[in-house]
Amino acid sequence: MPQSKMNTLAEWLKTSRCVMALTGAGISAESGIPTFRGVQGLWEKYDIMEFAHIDSFRADPVKVWRMLLELDQTILKARPNAAHKALAELETLGILGLVVTQNVDNLHQDAGSRHVVEFHGNAKRFRCLDCGTPYERAQVNFSEPPPRCFCTGLIKPDVVFFGEAIPWAAHARAFDMARQADLVLVVGTSAVVAPASDLPILAKHNGARVVEINPEATVLTEDVTDLILQGPASQMLPPVLDLIRRRA
Ligand code: NAD
Ligand code: ZN
Repeated sequence: MPQSKMNTLAEWLKTSRCVMALTGAGISAESGIPTFRGVQGLWEKYDIMEFAHIDSFRADPVKVWRMLLELDQTILKARPNAAHKALAELETLGILGLVVTQNVDNLHQDAGSRHVVEFHGNAKRFRCLDCGTPYERAQVNFSEPPPRCFCTGLIKPDVVFFGEAIPWAAHARAFDMARQADLVLVVGTSAVVAPASDLPILAKHNGARVVEINPEATVLTEDVTDLILQGPASQMLPPVLDLIRRRA
């Protein structure tokens, strides 16, 4: 990676007024959680549009819960990596205002980020599909899937399935920030799942710079992105943080 790109990002981070990050599955790949569009893991076994669609869940909750339990185990074992920690540190330094994450693994919060919008919910919480009652993990009986609410409704992880709406508060906060931001870090997302993928585009229209951190180019790279640090997030973000600290 040319040092000059890291220098540029460090400079932009230091001089920007309002910085947000949009993160996706790629930032957690090095914590052992497979991405959707990567090559290995869970999603070779399970067709994502089939298994993560709310209609499939309603039609065959036993089948979908088989996948969910496997994902649950993967997420439970995962720990934040150097990229999550670098974003948390940027927040502590007063540089990063908000992380909008499409991930449901809680790893930003585990790394110490306090300003996090869970755009697609959180797989460590659970909720009844019918009456909305929230459940802690310890209250859910996983022994004979699907777990059910006292109202007999289906319990599901508190994540947004395909075919479901984004929680309105998360949506509003993320889009507000995108309108105000002058720098957006787009980390580990293929940026093809709307409406999350609209955030960097909206920010760009409002004058923000867009920086991608991703080993691969994405649909944003050519027309929206101002700078791409092409590599794994855990190798790109910590050196940028070091540069900022050294120049402070
Ligand atoms: P995606 O799978 O579509 O894309 C992953 C992106 O990450 C790709 O562009 C890939 O090149 C990049 N990437 C891979 N390794 C990387 C690394 N080490 N550092 C930086 N980038 C890396 O993921 P998406 O865009 O987030 O969309 C998928 C949807 O799936 C999201 O809505 C999310 O809710 C859900 N999801 C979440 C998790 C999780 O919570 N960890 C995991 C899988 C999927
Ligand atoms: Zn219920």
